Amino acid sequence: MHADATNATAPAAAAASNATPVAASATASTTTSEKPAMNTPDAPKTTPVAMNKTKDEWLKQLGPAKYRILREAGTERAFSHEFWKKEPSDGSYRCAGCGTKLFEGTSKFVSECGWPAFDKAVPGTIKYVEDRTYGMVRTEVRCTACDGHLGHVFDDGPTDTGQRYCINGLSIDYAEKSPQAETPAASPQPASPQPASPKPAP
Ligand SMILES: [Zn+2]
Repeated sequence: MHADATNATAPAAAAASNATPVAASATASTTTSEKPAMNTPDAPKTTPVAMNKTKDEWLKQLGPAKYRILREAGTERAFSHEFWKKEPSDGSYRCAGCGTKLFEGTSKFVSECGWPAFDKAVPGTIKYVEDRTYGMVRTEVRCTACDGHLGHVFDDGPTDTGQRYCINGLSIDYAEKSPQAETPAASPQPASPQPASPKPAP
């Protein structure tokens, strides 16, 4: 006998197209025979916690200028933000929307493009999105935690990473490296703020 196992698998016809609006369990009250006890792993991984804010809340928190950049993918004018000419430093740059540390100060470099530029990001903090606006194909970079628009990344960087994160200064905040959080009181060093690099004054 040939085992013609025909009706072995009869998948329950749950193929009700893709566009099944997941209603918030409000109308399913009539049929109690079948309980949908399937743990649906539809975890929306593109919906971070910090996104649970209304437009007004974001607007109130950020102000109109930062709101336009972070929440509406705007772009500030080149050379308009002081960060663009800021040299590498010990501090770090954090998302102006949620405070996540995105770039180390050591990754900063002064780019002639007129926007704050970095040659790498803190791993896992950046989301990369293809951006086809303005007739170009660019890679938009967003904060993973709050989905805030930061800028774009290009592969024409001058350092060994070859990358140039071109970031709106309004989308990031600079945080000085806190001396007391890092080093315990082991060595009594006088924290003398001396200029590390003798650069020619502009
Ligand atoms: Zn953020």
